[in-house]
Amino acid sequence: MARINEHYLKLQAGYLFPEIGRRVSTFTDANPDADVIRLGIGDVTLPLAPAIVEAMREAAFAFGTPQGFRGYGPENGYDFLVKPILEHDFAARGVSLASDEIFVSDGSKQDSGNIQELFGVDCRIAVTDPVYPVYVDTNVMAGRTGPADDDGRYEGITYLPATAENGFMPDPPSSPVDVAYLCSPNNPTGAVASRENLESWVAWARKTDALLIFDAAYDAFIQDPALPHSIYEIDGAKEVAIEMRSFSKRAGFTGVRCAYTVVPKALTGATAGGERVSLNGLWSRRHATKFNSVPYVIQKAAAAVFSPEGTKQTREQVAYYMANAHALRDGLGAAGFTLYGGEHAPYIWMEAPDGLSSWDCFDKLLREAHVVCTPGSGFGAAGEGYVRISAFNDRANVDEAIARIRKAFAS
Ligand SMILES: *Cc1c(COP(=O)(O)O)cnc(C)c1O
Repeated sequence: MARINEHYLKLQAGYLFPEIGRRVSTFTDANPDADVIRLGIGDVTLPLAPAIVEAMREAAFAFGTPQGFRGYGPENGYDFLVKPILEHDFAARGVSLASDEIFVSDGSKQDSGNIQELFGVDCRIAVTDPVYPVYVDTNVMAGRTGPADDDGRYEGITYLPATAENGFMPDPPSSPVDVAYLCSPNNPTGAVASRENLESWVAWARKTDALLIFDAAYDAFIQDPALPHSIYEIDGAKEVAIEMRSFSKRAGFTGVRCAYTVVPKALTGATAGGERVSLNGLWSRRHATKFNSVPYVIQKAAAAVFSPEGTKQTREQVAYYMANAHALRDGLGAAGFTLYGGEHAPYIWMEAPDGLSSWDCFDKLLREAHVVCTPGSGFGAAGEGYVRISAFNDRANVDEAIARIRKAFAS
């Protein structure tokens, strides 16, 4: 008998995006002529930059030649990609890392879900609330939690509410925690961590011997050069933090698939007996056992992000989305909506007007503005009363959505 992993049964039904899809199709079935604008799911919309397409084309053609063909690649990524990562994403910001501290992968969703395999089942986990659901659900699957309560909060997880009062960047917990997940710029709130905030997290982790998992999937959207892009810009972070980066949002790779995780060699965890063990060694072992490297063509595509043309073209794409975000902030802000985020992130976190719940606001926007947003409560109990509006769309749609949202709530 194949007994199942019953921890899976604790998971809340994959509720958020299927439920949005259900409500949208119910609406469009009843209103086939409605021109629905989707500012819901956090997926990019612009086509791949030409420099990236060209690199993929060249790599694909090379594979059809005896000289250019390759089989399995190095598990942790080709040097032609790892080198520019070290140079452009880290050295350029004063952070020195070695190539064997970078692990190229096919996505930060996978990496942020898989990383918990390195930790004991009794490790205490903290997340911000609202949160990217992957961090929580993968710990539920691994058996680190009890069941969920009525608000969807799992027993055994420390939830740190991200609120308007704390700028949606909570302070470290005062109760004991072993591993904390941070995401900045944040999905879903669009908030960004200040240097001081990250310093307080690193200091906390060092003091309490905790570990930080820092998800920087949106770092390219940071506009203020003084804000840290990497947790390793904070002194002492290499001993306490793992960082994840993705090409998905910065370069439109959501359907191409390439990311990387940084596990510094200075980082250790403890055995039950108190012996310190290198997490770099464990992650390397895991990667080599369960992963057979990102396709060559895709790594060539990712390397092209760092070429002069690739850098210019992908920066223009990010600027395009950020112009949308600023239009949303300006257009909705001027109409009196209470908004957060959207300054260093492609998401606007909007307070649902008139005291509406997240889902009631979602329904009103769908029915009256024909605009799809994401209910904040779907990301956690503390997201109730907010909706997330994405800037990933074309400008004409964004402008039209702004006008319709204003009209739906006028008077
Ligand atoms: C989009 C996103 C990612 C990127 O995931 P990929 O698997 O690399 O596409 C990671 N973290 C967060 C919070 C995201 O929103």
